[in-house]
Amino acid sequence: MTEPGRDILKEVFGYAQFRGPQQDIIAHVVAGGDALVLMPTGGGKSLCYQIPAIARQRAGLGVAIVVSPLIALMHDQVGALHEAGVDAAFLNSTLSFDESSALEKRLLRGDITLLYAAPERVTTPRFLAQLDSLQERGLLSLFAIDEAHCVSQWGHDFRPEYRALTVLHERYPGVPRLALTATADALTRADIVERLQLEDARQFVSSFDRPNIRYTIVEKKEATQQLLRFIQREHEGDAGIVYCQSRKKVEDIAQKLCDAGISALPYHAGLDAKVRQMNQDKFLRSDGIVMVATIAFGMGIDKPDVRFVAHLDMPKNIEGYYQETGRAGRDGLPANAWMGYGLQDVVNQRRMIDESPAGDDFKQVMRGKLDALLGLAEATDCRRGRLLSYFGEELISRERGDADGAPEGEGSRYFCGNCDNCLAPPAVWDGTDAARKLLSTIYRVQQVTGIGFGAGHIMDIVRGKRTEKVAQFGHESLSTFGVGAAYSELQLRGVLRQLIAISAVAVDGQAFNTLQLTSASRAVLKGEVSVRLRESVLGDGARPARGSKVAGTRPGGSAKPAPINLDDEAQERYARLKAWRAEVAREHNLPAYVIFHDATLAAIAQRDPRSLEDLQGISGMGAKKLQAYGEEVLRVSCSG
Ligand code: ADP
Ligand code: ZN
Repeated sequence: MTEPGRDILKEVFGYAQFRGPQQDIIAHVVAGGDALVLMPTGGGKSLCYQIPAIARQRAGLGVAIVVSPLIALMHDQVGALHEAGVDAAFLNSTLSFDESSALEKRLLRGDITLLYAAPERVTTPRFLAQLDSLQERGLLSLFAIDEAHCVSQWGHDFRPEYRALTVLHERYPGVPRLALTATADALTRADIVERLQLEDARQFVSSFDRPNIRYTIVEKKEATQQLLRFIQREHEGDAGIVYCQSRKKVEDIAQKLCDAGISALPYHAGLDAKVRQMNQDKFLRSDGIVMVATIAFGMGIDKPDVRFVAHLDMPKNIEGYYQETGRAGRDGLPANAWMGYGLQDVVNQRRMIDESPAGDDFKQVMRGKLDALLGLAEATDCRRGRLLSYFGEELISRERGDADGAPEGEGSRYFCGNCDNCLAPPAVWDGTDAARKLLSTIYRVQQVTGIGFGAGHIMDIVRGKRTEKVAQFGHESLSTFGVGAAYSELQLRGVLRQLIAISAVAVDGQAFNTLQLTSASRAVLKGEVSVRLRESVLGDGARPARGSKVAGTRPGGSAKPAPINLDDEAQERYARLKAWRAEVAREHNLPAYVIFHDATLAAIAQRDPRSLEDLQGISGMGAKKLQAYGEEVLRVSCSG
């Protein structure tokens, strides 16, 4: 066999080509090697263990065990495999006693290709005894450890149960193990290797670029309105995720979106488990739901047609931001990652670190990570370039093309052409003078009054506003009163944000968020460090994603256009196919995309098939699906 797994890729999944490193990984694992796979969300990790599992089962090597933390999603993952004709099952607490006993019998016969189970289940004595029995008969084909970053406290989803998985290596040294994650930073990676004893495993690190995702970061001002405009203008009727920091805000924003006529649902850990599951199911199973959520939502959500991910509050670090935004556009079609950020975010995140009970070393790491994210938010150059270099990728500069007004003579800077800064390079201004005025004011106020003040009051003094508070403390007599009258509040806010970001100003969370000078303030005050800022532009900052239609021109309101350009008749076939798919999905109690992706339906509509042969070779049409649905698809497609 020259290319292990290619036949399975075609026959079972209906795909013509491997993506990125899939082929090498699959060959390595089919041959019995251990592997650590780092691939961005949507990169195609599942096939990296599913195809080896099928290949090894066909070779008589028995059952692959898939360790996954996501009990709530196992049903759909296994359902997708069934649709493709693969013998898969899951073992978790939702099964009845009879169901689990029946499953255990099948397992012991080695009759299952892939068995999904949570780590706490895998490491029970009972389950290990069953694995022992399989192993003795050579029927344990492979272990896949999904979401492997859960083993590390540096990853953001630490699950202590993952630590117990070392038993797999110790007890079954001859069985290949494959750990997979979308979390790429060096610290987490090293931790995974150590904790799971993968020292001898081959590492496959893919590019983390997600070229179809457009990154936009805007300054927050009436954030809810900005978000609404962004969704209404660009994502009418689309599925999306809006991340907020607190449960209360989740509920509040979900309500506001609903009031504006957007189908939004809340999701956070404080909701009843049943409600949470119901909302998640609705998001997965219906079209065009916007999930407003805390970061409790999203791991393992493999819905391919999430068209946007929005952050209304800044995440803790770039890893989190990248993982969350990565949930957009898994199908490879244009998608948006939009974030609103402001002074308050910087203040909050800093304070959360300062006040956390963690040790100083840990805090230091967290501060460094936050700084990198602030750097991204303040950046005036390519966002993608920043992200990729953060993950240690070498940047291969691209053609600048005819980007709207990209400045000449900066060819050395990375240019992706699909982020806000590349599409419309922001104006930059020198904020050094404003920074010095702010710092001197913080200093003088403290000196004169003996107490610190918050950002609002400091800016009022610099701008020379005679507020009640200014009068109360006699601050109009300060020498810096009104020295920055020429600056707008927005400009000063931008300067302060950056000063906090570079630790030249500290925020005292114990004392009403008052501002304090730090050891780093001196250099700025003395003019040794210059502060260059992006010009504040308020708005939603968004531009129509590549290839997307301008909202409002869609005929028939919520009827979404196909992912490829179709003529009118094909568009009708596409609509009929989607309606048919929705019915099948309901009958099977599975999300629609598990039956066929939008892209597959669009390709069928375009081809206008008249026979089963015409359906062959359409991406996503595997042998089982052709057999199960081929006739129906022909009937529906031709019934216009
Ligand atoms: P990940 O787990 O890495 O986030 P998935 O395994 O869910 O990503 O894959 C993302 C999407 O890409 C899925 O819808 C999958 O069917 C599709 N996909 C994966 N590999 C291929 C391929 N070689 N050709 C076409 N589509 C693929
Ligand atoms: Zn860019």
